[in-house]
Amino acid sequence: MTTAQRHIACFCETTFDADLPTSADMGADPEIEQLILDGSFMSLTCPGCGKRLTPEYPFRLTGVSGFGDLFLVPETDRGAYERNTLGYETGSPGRIAIGFPELQEKVLIAGLGLDDRVIEIMKYYLLTGSTSAADGEQEKEVGIVYRGKESTRHVFNIIGMKEGEIGVARLAEELYGRIASDVETRVKEDPFQDFCAPPWVSLRRITGASV
Ligand SMILES: [Zn+2]
Repeated sequence: MTTAQRHIACFCETTFDADLPTSADMGADPEIEQLILDGSFMSLTCPGCGKRLTPEYPFRLTGVSGFGDLFLVPETDRGAYERNTLGYETGSPGRIAIGFPELQEKVLIAGLGLDDRVIEIMKYYLLTGSTSAADGEQEKEVGIVYRGKESTRHVFNIIGMKEGEIGVARLAEELYGRIASDVETRVKEDPFQDFCAPPWVSLRRITGASV
């Protein structure tokens, strides 16, 4: 793992320096997967107020099954990434994750040996099947997050449908298999090509959702 010293500013106005990871390898740093999955990756405790902080900095994870390199772009850099004006190099990663939740999701998907393009297409079907909103109601910004498998079903959290509530959807393994069987064709077609083309494979490319 490589690290760099970062200058951290807490909301309590305490500032301090901390070494945070800039790159790691799934094989050489086996603990990294769990740190990302349990949310403790890049987390710090403010020495002033004791609050837990999770600042996001660019980070490269190499040796990720199915992806090769996975590069974390902080959520605050999303606009710059989309405008192609990032102030740093991402190299040529197999995948980009924007923000921690997406990094977590990609690592989970890779660990399960799944195809993230199929997962994003499943999200698309969830979204288009669930936003038949009442007339005149403005379309809400709905985020969908993959949470893993429960026996033969894939579990997704749906955020933003109802204020303060997280919905849960479970889609059958069969649907995953059906999409996977012709995913190479689908990803060349509309609307899938707009969010399945690497490196940033994410439904958020077309929904603009924050998660
Ligand atoms: Zn603090």
